[in-house]
Amino acid sequence: MGVLALQGDVREHLAALAECDVVARPVRRPTELAEVDALVLPGGESTTIDKLARAFDLREPVLDRIKQGMPAYGSCAGMILLADRIVDAVPGQQTFGGIDMTVRRNAFGRQVESFEEDLPFAGVDGEPVRAVFIRAPWVEEVAPQVEVLAKVEAGPAAGRIVAVRQGNLLATSFHPEITGDIRVHRLFVEMVRGVLA
Ligand code: GLN
Repeated sequence: MGVLALQGDVREHLAALAECDVVARPVRRPTELAEVDALVLPGGESTTIDKLARAFDLREPVLDRIKQGMPAYGSCAGMILLADRIVDAVPGQQTFGGIDMTVRRNAFGRQVESFEEDLPFAGVDGEPVRAVFIRAPWVEEVAPQVEVLAKVEAGPAAGRIVAVRQGNLLATSFHPEITGDIRVHRLFVEMVRGVLA
């Protein structure tokens, strides 16, 4: 498995995957992408990752692999990169797409740029998942084939969609990679194993 290593919290994802007993490696070049069977798109800054993906000639290869069905998981900026449509993009910002949804960047507003909440997460058993939001996006609307896995429960953003799955693609507005709870990564690893089995 690979973690797109252009910018963002790459190390945290590599560590979470290692805890799931998965050999994960950073992906910075097309040759490295060709060697992995699944890709994590980290949290960070989607505009920067987009620019660097183009500069490193990774954009087209990533698009091709997603079209071919490679499993991918994006957290926060990674969710933005997996969205077919974004609101509040910077001019010229592109995504890889793959999930038929509209995502609003920096959606939670200035007062609550960062916050945490425990959320029930479909497909993750046991305790709710601690969701850490950092200048996070939310999902404004999804096509019928997109499965909603988690929504904000309380406060002004209650009801907003913050975790989704479409086929082999998984995305969360929040960052499980920084909480020490590896259940969302495990879910992704199970998805990948299901595809490869
Ligand atoms: N606001 C960032 C963006 O637009 C995402 C923030 C994050 O990944 N923590 O890419």
